[in-house]
Amino acid sequence: MYIKRAKIQQTQFVVLKSIIYNIDHAEDTKSVSELPIDFDYEFLEHKEIKTKIRVILSIRINQDKAKDGYFIDVQTGSEYEISEDISRTDKEYQGLLLYSALPCLINQTRLFLKTVTSHFPTKEYILPMIDMLDLVKQKVGNFEAKGIKKREYRKLKTGKTWHWRKDCSRYPHANYITSFSKPTTGKLCKVCELKNI
Ligand SMILES: [Zn+2]
Repeated sequence: MYIKRAKIQQTQFVVLKSIIYNIDHAEDTKSVSELPIDFDYEFLEHKEIKTKIRVILSIRINQDKAKDGYFIDVQTGSEYEISEDISRTDKEYQGLLLYSALPCLINQTRLFLKTVTSHFPTKEYILPMIDMLDLVKQKVGNFEAKGIKKREYRKLKTGKTWHWRKDCSRYPHANYITSFSKPTTGKLCKVCELKNI
């Protein structure tokens, strides 16, 4: 069969951060595959070279370490070259990012996690398949508002209140957990809210 090369090609894959360890020994594989996942991705466009794009993926699993199995905090990155006849404002360009570049990086990260965790006493971790349409829907606002810094929510491991303003006196700098989407549990800080103009 003749292979037609896609208009996007991967030029690099790197692991930027990798903190992986066992929590107790969950023999039950079901509990491992059902660990809570906090997931985020970002597209970084090269300022000068219009055909270059980087994708950064952050995955945190079992972030508050409440469950047996694994604690995972990884960040992976990938660089792609996109055919120069596609402009950054084209629909096709966005499609290549969301449905080629991003899934490619997710798959590589899944393989990385599976390989590393296969050496642990607990059953290997296989990142669930992700509903890309839903993921994109959640992020579409951010994607269109490119250049706007994403909000990082922080909460003390022992606390209930989420902060996102670095100028809030209670903004945690140690022993905290992070969320890149609006937290659905706990409370949002009133001080941060006031500063948020
Ligand atoms: Zn606050």
